[in-house]
Amino acid sequence: MSKEIPSYVVILCKDCNFYFGKHNKSNFNCPRCGIFQKNPQIFSRVEDSNTLHSLVSELNIPEELRDDFKNLNDNLERSTSVENLIDLIPLILRDVPNSRGELNLFDLNEFLKKKNIKFDARKIIEVCEIEGLLIRLAEGKWKKISESL
Ligand SMILES: [Zn+2]
Repeated sequence: MSKEIPSYVVILCKDCNFYFGKHNKSNFNCPRCGIFQKNPQIFSRVEDSNTLHSLVSELNIPEELRDDFKNLNDNLERSTSVENLIDLIPLILRDVPNSRGELNLFDLNEFLKKKNIKFDARKIIEVCEIEGLLIRLAEGKWKKISESL
């Protein structure tokens, strides 16, 4: 009814068993494996982004998260460490999105180039999605979930 209140659903991806949050305007592609969920399995509905963030973090198995971080580290060992990425994400979320809190891959790549950071923009987005910081609006376009970041 009200446009002010964001509502999110938590979806379980049937292809990779990953829980992800979905804004009512974003699509049903799993942020982890990218597969479109034809008959999305809605696990839960939440009204605010903080609840969404903690619920998604809780549902996804920490071991898998560690694997993701490990793979990320292996791929990027000669450029920047994961510790740097964790420091980098708040900076990216502060500087890259526009006034509506939206960002796209092009802007992120420009930011990385300007700062001479050799991270794969898609990997950064992936980590932000897993951490519940960004939500996909469309292909190549994301929105910050928490306005306080
Ligand atoms: Zn999936």
